[in-house]
Amino acid sequence: MNKKTIDQLNLQGRKVLLRVDFNVPMENGIVMDDNRINMAIPTIKKVIDEGGKLILFSHLGRVKEESDKAKLDLAPVAKKLSEKLGKEVTFIPETRGEQLESAINQMQDGDVLMFQNTRWEDADGNKESGNDPELGKYWASLGDVFINDAFGAVHRSHASIVGIASNIEESAIGYLIEKEVKALSKVLNPEKPFVVIMGGAKVSDKIGLINKFVEIADYVVAGGGMATTFTKALGHSIGESLLQEDYVPVAKELMEKYPEKIIVPLDFAVSEGFKNNPRRETEGRDIEDKDMAMDCGPKTNESLKEILKGAKTVIWNGPLGVTEFSEYEKGSAQLCEDIVNLTADNAYTVIGGGDSAAAAIKLGYGDKFTHISTGGGASMTLLEGKPLPGIDCIQNA
Ligand code: AMP
Repeated sequence: MNKKTIDQLNLQGRKVLLRVDFNVPMENGIVMDDNRINMAIPTIKKVIDEGGKLILFSHLGRVKEESDKAKLDLAPVAKKLSEKLGKEVTFIPETRGEQLESAINQMQDGDVLMFQNTRWEDADGNKESGNDPELGKYWASLGDVFINDAFGAVHRSHASIVGIASNIEESAIGYLIEKEVKALSKVLNPEKPFVVIMGGAKVSDKIGLINKFVEIADYVVAGGGMATTFTKALGHSIGESLLQEDYVPVAKELMEKYPEKIIVPLDFAVSEGFKNNPRRETEGRDIEDKDMAMDCGPKTNESLKEILKGAKTVIWNGPLGVTEFSEYEKGSAQLCEDIVNLTADNAYTVIGGGDSAAAAIKLGYGDKFTHISTGGGASMTLLEGKPLPGIDCIQNA
């Protein structure tokens, strides 16, 4: 990647616009998982230590209309960041205007300011997500230099990223993007044996990656809610489980072409309805009419343990079950443990962000993988080899 990095910038006394990904889970104004904040700290500290005037901003959730704004307020995140830095973070509850501009004008070297959720601009004609040219130009006018460190948003062409970069003289990427690109790119040139574990809800979301990895991996596991489309393609009954009917032929063709490589669950934990019911497990792959698959069963975990033995590179994307429900996190928890044991044996182990990263962190494995990506969609886009507008828009080194 031939892009200018933060280390190549002169930051002293300059107004530094830093786009971070503080799109963190929040409940009633409380930050429930601060991993993304922690991951942005090295870049933030660098700007402060170098005497830059740091202007931070991020998106949070999706704002469709005016009434969505109140619950998608970044003030609690600014407070959390201030605690972590042991330093005042001036929060401006607006995305533009006189209050923001005059606060920026009063900043001293090393000061930190954060402004409101960039997606508040979406309530008025999708200006942030639609990369409104005036908005990007306006935000760019607030600073001297732009740093993008929002890895989780690099697959988006939004005003707070591409719009700013196209309207400012100097731009660079931060430490987190540098680290993510390096860590994920290594998976594309893996040391073998290489095992890919895909889960999550939809085959359609993951099929691009499955097709790519099946060529280079030793095994590709089709797990999670996605698995039952494959199970159906094998001729089993799947009851009320998730199904993407139009992907049944795709799954069938993949399994016929790569019978040794594509791994499908051997059994399931099921529930009557999408609820946290007491865990019940099937004998084999068949699921009764009234039931739906909510997790993989113990035989599946045993088979995964087998294929993981001796693996030198592992990537996992998408939970094996509905980990939001305590009764159905067992399959993913066991998988975490098996992968983490490989990390201890010097395997290169990566989680591609999203819900599997959240599950691993919640289950206590947050620091036990070689790399846990902060971006689900972004890491998938990178691994698929598709363009990343949030990096492409940055100046070349
Ligand atoms: P994704 O964003 O595609 O990685 O999907 C994550 C979602 O998949 C999570 O919300 C999980 O609850 C869901 N999921 C995983 N396994 C299953 C399953 N067997 N049935 C339904 N949903 C599932």
